[in-house]
Amino acid sequence: MHDTPTRRLILAGGIAGLGALSGSAAAAPAGPTGRPQPDLDEPAPLPPGGRVGWAVVGLGDYAQAHVLPTLARAKRSKLSSLVSGNADKARQVAARYGVPDEAVHDYGAMARLADDPGVQVVYIVTPNASHPELTVRAFEAGKHVICEKPMANSPAECQRMIDAGKAAGRKLMIAYRAHFEPHNRRAKAMLEGGELGRVWFASSDHHRPLDPKRPRDEWRAQKAVAGGGSLVDIGIYALNGLQWLLGESTSALTASLHSPPDDPRFAEVENVFMAELVFPSGRRATISSSYAADKKRIDLWGDKLVATLDPATAYQGNRLVVSNERMREEVLTEEQSDAQFTNELDHFSQAVAEDGPVLTPGEMGLRDVRLIEALYRAARERRWLDLNSDMTVKA
Ligand code: NDP
Repeated sequence: MHDTPTRRLILAGGIAGLGALSGSAAAAPAGPTGRPQPDLDEPAPLPPGGRVGWAVVGLGDYAQAHVLPTLARAKRSKLSSLVSGNADKARQVAARYGVPDEAVHDYGAMARLADDPGVQVVYIVTPNASHPELTVRAFEAGKHVICEKPMANSPAECQRMIDAGKAAGRKLMIAYRAHFEPHNRRAKAMLEGGELGRVWFASSDHHRPLDPKRPRDEWRAQKAVAGGGSLVDIGIYALNGLQWLLGESTSALTASLHSPPDDPRFAEVENVFMAELVFPSGRRATISSSYAADKKRIDLWGDKLVATLDPATAYQGNRLVVSNERMREEVLTEEQSDAQFTNELDHFSQAVAEDGPVLTPGEMGLRDVRLIEALYRAARERRWLDLNSDMTVKA
């Protein structure tokens, strides 16, 4: 490298050399010094003692890839405890995140969370069939609960979870992260603000591949554990997303499903699911899901503009585009997509700390599980179901 005189001077003389450069020691700039608190673009995190303590239950793929890293960078939440059926794995994860040995439990010892005042929230991130029992145990330990989607495999189990929360006087949230994702929020604001015009039709398609050889997909192919196939696993984003974005709950529906008979992955759960939804306003929507493609998309068909979220519910890199026959424009958001994770977890911590409302409560999870039950029934009976007369699906 070709050294300039300045560079050589600084290298030889360090900070003192700067004075020699200017020709006067008296005019030398001062060394490092304190400056006033800068105006930060983002609010600063609460001090650790002011954050809500979380226990994470089930250390699988989603917990380790997304939940634990989110807690490490959250502003109102912090990781305080782990619950796992694999003691070796739990010890390794605890060491990585600085969780002390005495705050690591197995499922049978969840009652011990009651003795840990450092834990206020329990996050259930286990396979679907285990959500109700673990949620009830967490409530019995006096904790608030956030539970992964789908809430449970039957409306009765969802109701049991809600009742346990009420009996304990604690909050229940279902982890519908899209409600906290900046592009989804922007699309909803555009619809509500009239920017899309009148929206009479919406469509949402959520598809992802399934490989039961991977541990995280093994249980997804088992009906007793997963509760269903692509509809409950990923179609639920389409179902829940449209109810939320349109601001009303489905009043009638019909559906169909298909699984290739020669594919052993679909011996118990469906591959393709599709449905037509009718809303009280008269709006129509279609949803589809499968384990046969990799794509997550939502379209809100307004008479001024069509808003397209594609990807709609990815972990990062979601995009919102508005278009019509004459124009096509990407809508940028201030926050990036991955802000959804901290927004979601800190929302629940804030609701707990300030006794505020929960945006995606247990009742929303119950409504969706009722809709899922109705969708499977409509597919089985090959007919339209009017949810007011054929079954009760409350908003
Ligand atoms: P994984 O199979 O990767 O992890 C599940 C973990 O649950 C296991 O590692 C295990 O943890 C524990 N577990 C307890 N009982 C069982 C059992 N019988 N079989 C298998 N695991 C068991 O699944 P995911 O992390 O992908 O999914 C977990 C939950 O999160 C599901 O409800 C899923 O729908 C939801 N999810 C949500 C996503 C979202 O974007 N919101 C994305 C992906 C999943 P341990 O060994 O510590 O006991």
